[in-house]
Amino acid sequence: RGSVHRICSGQVVLTLATAVKELVENSIDAGATIVEVKLREYGSEMIDVSDNGLGVEEKNFEGLTLKHHTSKLEDFSDLINVETFGFRGEALSSLCALSVMNVVTRHKDVEVGTKLEYDNHGKVNSRSSVARQIGTTVTLQNLFYTLPVRHKEFQRNLKKEFVKMVHVLNAYCLINTGVRITCTNQTGKGNRTTVVSSKGNQTVKENISNIFGPKQVQSILEFKQHKPTEEVSTEYGIKLTDGQTELFKIEGHISKCEHGQGRSSADRQFYFINKRPCDHSKLSKLVNEVYHQYNRHQYPFVALSITIQKVYDQYNRHQYPFVALSITIQKESVDVNVTPDKRQ
Ligand code: ADP
Ligand code: MG
Repeated sequence: RGSVHRICSGQVVLTLATAVKELVENSIDAGATIVEVKLREYGSEMIDVSDNGLGVEEKNFEGLTLKHHTSKLEDFSDLINVETFGFRGEALSSLCALSVMNVVTRHKDVEVGTKLEYDNHGKVNSRSSVARQIGTTVTLQNLFYTLPVRHKEFQRNLKKEFVKMVHVLNAYCLINTGVRITCTNQTGKGNRTTVVSSKGNQTVKENISNIFGPKQVQSILEFKQHKPTEEVSTEYGIKLTDGQTELFKIEGHISKCEHGQGRSSADRQFYFINKRPCDHSKLSKLVNEVYHQYNRHQYPFVALSITIQKVYDQYNRHQYPFVALSITIQKESVDVNVTPDKRQ
């Protein structure tokens, strides 16, 4: 059982970026306004995430690291309206199986903190009282050491993984207005450097200026588009429930990348759906194509967020429609040989 869990855990947490992202999400879910990420040796020796959130209740100390244990979802119908980043209860249980995990937490209703040490199966190994402000610190040591091949790959690609992690963290900084997120890294030589720092401003635009410098918001194109009910009803035949005024909203900031950035589309582009950072290859392709018509040598800075209102009830969730759709276009517009079965 132990090794099956370890293998599955390796699929939940694939990279350094996922590990850090999961911990930061938990902090934000706990209502933190300050989140501090501290790494040693780019995260390979230690990842330590501290927050000033609600803390963990004593009754959850044991369950915290159990598979599918979550305090965020009461029943299955909540899934549609879920407002937190987490709801599957997989992250801590997986991280426990992949590293040495400690938690120090003080719940808002108690006077003293507790330090919990877990084993790889998610059991509490030791427990002691410590002084702490309200909030939680989760510490991971030797990430992936239980998966030797992954561990070796991780060490080999450390710098690359680190760069990816910084990008992911910056996405969280941008979209989570009102939350200050910092990340520092300490290497063997002893110096600790700050790699991510957001002041938790009230708007995404201020966050952009703060994180990437004021130049990045110069000549910024800011836009906001709402799709109102009537327009959507006519266009898509979708009726919205009472009180709904729009189906979706796209908000964005696009500007020329600062000097030295923007050579790759991955440099400074961020996409969000319902405030969740995501990869949206179709959308990013579209944005870059349009931008390239004007500026062929550079990719733009992009922070684009889409808010989709709750429209789930409009669809029939238990059935797929009948479809027979045939598209005819010029032969030279199609590459049939993308995959051997010619289906892509
Ligand atoms: P999920 O986020 O999907 O609920 P996790 O495995 O990430 O699952 O976390 C398990 C549970 O541990 C959460 O539901 C929450 O109750 C608790 N928890 C984790 N991190 C924190 C934190 N930083 N502050 C408060 N509670 C936390
Ligand atoms: Mg979580």
